[in-house]
Amino acid sequence: MSVDVHYGDKQGLDRTRRYLVPVARLPLPDEPDLVHLALYQWLPQFDAWATGPSICGRSTTQGPLPDGTAITCPACEEHRPDYERHLAGHGQSPEQQLAEVCRLLSQWGPRLMETQPVLFRKLDDLLQLSGPKEP
Ligand SMILES: [Zn+2]
Repeated sequence: MSVDVHYGDKQGLDRTRRYLVPVARLPLPDEPDLVHLALYQWLPQFDAWATGPSICGRSTTQGPLPDGTAITCPACEEHRPDYERHLAGHGQSPEQQLAEVCRLLSQWGPRLMETQPVLFRKLDDLLQLSGPKEP
C-alpha cells in the first residue's frame, strides 16, 4: 500500500500545525490489534506529511487512517487529553501557556518540587517576569 504524502494538503490541513490522527498498528504477528493515535505533521525536509510513532509509544504504519476511525488503544486514549491540550495551546499567549504549565505542575505535586528545585526557581523567575507590572 503506498502512502499519499500530500494527503494532509488535500484535507486542507495547515502545514504549520500538528494534528492527532488515527493510525494502524504494524502488520506484525505480535502487535496488539489496536487503532492508535499519532501526531501528523508536515516535514518540509521530506516534502511530505508524516505520522510519528503512536502517542502510547508503539511503532505504527505510516499515514493516517480515515477521519473518524475509532481509537481502540486504551493507552493512547489515556494520553489523548494531554496532547489535545498541548495542540490547542498552539497560538496561546505566553501568559496562557505559563498558566497551563503551572496547572500541570500543581497536578504532579510536591514530589516534583523536591526532585526539580532548579525548574521551580526558573518558574518563579518566569512568573515574576510575566506577572502584573507596576504602573
Ligand atoms: Zn496506542
